[in-house]
Amino acid sequence: MRIGFGYDVHRFAPGIPLILGGVEIPCEMGLAGHSDGDALTHAIIDSLLGAASLGDIGSWFPSDEPRWKGVSSLELLRQVKIALEQRSYAVGNLDTVVVCERPRLQPHIAAMRASISRVLKIEVANVSVKATTAEKLGTVGEELAVEVHAVALLTSSSAPEA
Ligand code: MG
Repeated sequence: MRIGFGYDVHRFAPGIPLILGGVEIPCEMGLAGHSDGDALTHAIIDSLLGAASLGDIGSWFPSDEPRWKGVSSLELLRQVKIALEQRSYAVGNLDTVVVCERPRLQPHIAAMRASISRVLKIEVANVSVKATTAEKLGTVGEELAVEVHAVALLTSSSAPEA
């Protein structure tokens, strides 16, 4: 078994959709980013890559590459899942915390878990998404950004290295 940790932060910007875990959440602001700004999916990707010691999301999907512009982060997650499979890793479970002052994410948690579990082809029960606020403190508390923390467990089906 291997554990990995991921973190991401994206700033709010007006006039773009707010997408977290591949789910569009009603809000007058969205998260700016080269792809769709999906900080939850990005943190998950980094936790999975970290668990396999495969670098980080920036090295896999450089933000200066035009082909990743506007792409769904779920597509990036799908590619990481394939890369893990090629190395005989299976995703065990994920746990995440989304730190967001506004909007309230609770009504959308089930949809986010379902969407991530679909891409990773694992049970919804193995995808945990938790939401909290920053108690009005700092940039997240001032509604300028959303922050996400994620941990992932991978299991390897290949023989351990000697
Ligand atoms: Mg990101």
